[in-house]
Amino acid sequence: MILYPICSSSRGNCLYISGKRGGILVDAGFGVRNLFTYLKNAQISPIGIKSIFITHEHIDHTLGLYSITKNLCVSIFSSKETLKCLVSKGRIHPSSKLYEIDSKKVCVCGLEIGAFKTPHDCARSLGFCIFDGQKKLSICTDAGHITDEMKQNLKGSTLVFLESNYDRQMLLNSHYPYYIKKRIESKLGHLSNDDATEFIKYLIDHNVKKFILGHLSQNNNTPEVAFQTATSRLLKSKLKINQDYSLNIAPVRNPDKIYEV
Ligand SMILES: [Zn+2]
Ligand SMILES: [Zn+2]
Repeated sequence: MILYPICSSSRGNCLYISGKRGGILVDAGFGVRNLFTYLKNAQISPIGIKSIFITHEHIDHTLGLYSITKNLCVSIFSSKETLKCLVSKGRIHPSSKLYEIDSKKVCVCGLEIGAFKTPHDCARSLGFCIFDGQKKLSICTDAGHITDEMKQNLKGSTLVFLESNYDRQMLLNSHYPYYIKKRIESKLGHLSNDDATEFIKYLIDHNVKKFILGHLSQNNNTPEVAFQTATSRLLKSKLKINQDYSLNIAPVRNPDKIYEV
């Protein structure tokens, strides 16, 4: 299985994952023209994309959804509540087929995909676990806190793509209005660098070794700060990078790496 993080930040999220029989996108928070350019740069044909899995309706995850569904014949998978919301906002072209993915796993492109709930201030957000028969890729962003359901689903993954949205001090010092700071920090907001580090520590203890941090805030975080927070904190627990685990940061834009899961 291949993971190609195309963009990941508070401004836009889109991941490409391919199995044996074509590829899927997780989220579509990116304009179709740029998306096609980045796929072409990685020698991936957009026509091979059969399905889009949407975590939730926020615009950083659905900005390009209408234009992508207008240009490609794809099926859309998400929670019932998210699909209802996206249809009512006119964000999906009518030609697309819609499928709920709440409790049962679905099979597309030789991949088996299951969903789990994430605590976030939207209709009903999801994270996804993607199996190719041997490996398991888990994607967990836009979560206000770490839940037991998230822990159960991410345990034993080959690779975890995890939100590390903000540095607490940077958020505190930022120019954001008080109510937005409170929203980000709330139990239905986003995972901080500290939260992500705590979760990584738990997951290392539960057979996960590879991590990619994503959905970084462009104002209240930097790749260096997120990386440094995690690696230095984990070292205090005697967990050494490139020995006990690997850690990468997803690109905000301009994708630079394809991961073999
Ligand atoms: Zn988001
Ligand atoms: Zn969101």
